[in-house]
Amino acid sequence: MVLLPALLALGLTCCAPETPARLAAADDQQHGNVQGANPKAPPVVPHFTVRGRWADPQRLTYRIEDRAGPFDAEAFGAAITRACATWTETGLVAFSVAEADAKPDVVLGWRRGHHGACEPFSADSAVAHSGPVRNGTFVHFDAGRKWVADAEHDRDGYSLYGTALHELGHVLGLGHSTVADAVMSTGVVRSAPLAPSDLFGLQSLYGGGVDAVGDLRIESEKGELLVALRGVAPSDISDFAVFDVDANGSDDVLVWRTDRAGNGQLMIYHFEKGAQIARTTGPFVGAMASGAENLLMHTASGHRVLHTAYKNGRRIARHFDQYGVLKGFSVHLISDEEMAAAEQAGNARVGDLDGDGRRERVVPVQ
Ligand SMILES: [Zn+2]
Ligand SMILES: [Zn+2]
Repeated sequence: MVLLPALLALGLTCCAPETPARLAAADDQQHGNVQGANPKAPPVVPHFTVRGRWADPQRLTYRIEDRAGPFDAEAFGAAITRACATWTETGLVAFSVAEADAKPDVVLGWRRGHHGACEPFSADSAVAHSGPVRNGTFVHFDAGRKWVADAEHDRDGYSLYGTALHELGHVLGLGHSTVADAVMSTGVVRSAPLAPSDLFGLQSLYGGGVDAVGDLRIESEKGELLVALRGVAPSDISDFAVFDVDANGSDDVLVWRTDRAGNGQLMIYHFEKGAQIARTTGPFVGAMASGAENLLMHTASGHRVLHTAYKNGRRIARHFDQYGVLKGFSVHLISDEEMAAAEQAGNARVGDLDGDGRRERVVPVQ
């Protein structure tokens, strides 16, 4: 098994600034697991994450440059072409080769060691990395590694096809998945077919799929479907609310879920124009527990708070920072009056997700 170094596990491109996801990871380490389970245990609930979105995913162009590397140039091109084709086969996105005189959306090629403004390649670095989700982005493969076209045995080398598939998933806007066999999982770079988790993420970004139990439909007030978050909220293990976690004037959708053993996580979906999913923060692992009741509220002291009442009577209130990242906790943030008012109001399931002045509602498919 070939383990990806921790850098790639952060799900970041090179040159990425400190992001909410990274801050969240640090925060969870700092505070440990609030429900007392092993914080090192892998997240058990399947989930996808997203980090961006293309306005026109049906017209993505790519070019393979810098083919001279540790691998036959033609086979290198063939592995990338095949990875592009795999994503194109979903019907939700389409990659085609850029015209000779056109600027491609994505450029792919070999790099070695220090290169440009990227995180340098080294024995401890990721084996490949990709740029931001926008025109002119890139995928770089570390020329200092041993590669195979498509690994049958992981110790032979890294799979070019599998790695290209994973990095192109990032280019398309997907972040890392907690599902072990997903192409977007962090653990292993080898060939795998696209998993449901990968497809749910892509469908949530670019449409597609048919309504199924566990989906959340984002609807206009007239009931038109704007976007569906696929597979994120099975009703027996999850719940959700609408709340502006980062106080940026547009509401976000929070989904919290637990597995049978009581381990849980919180995921936050942020939206852009047309109430399309733009990015996610989280998963915040360990923030939830089986049977716990979550209530979101604004306090008079200016905090945005997630109050959790556990079955054993314990209560905590964690607050969100300016990025919408869950921070430290103290029930003293909330007065009895504020608590009573919040309980009366309950969690919202309607809000202005894209800040256009119109409200959307979140409707679970049951
Ligand atoms: Zn990755
Ligand atoms: Zn690079």
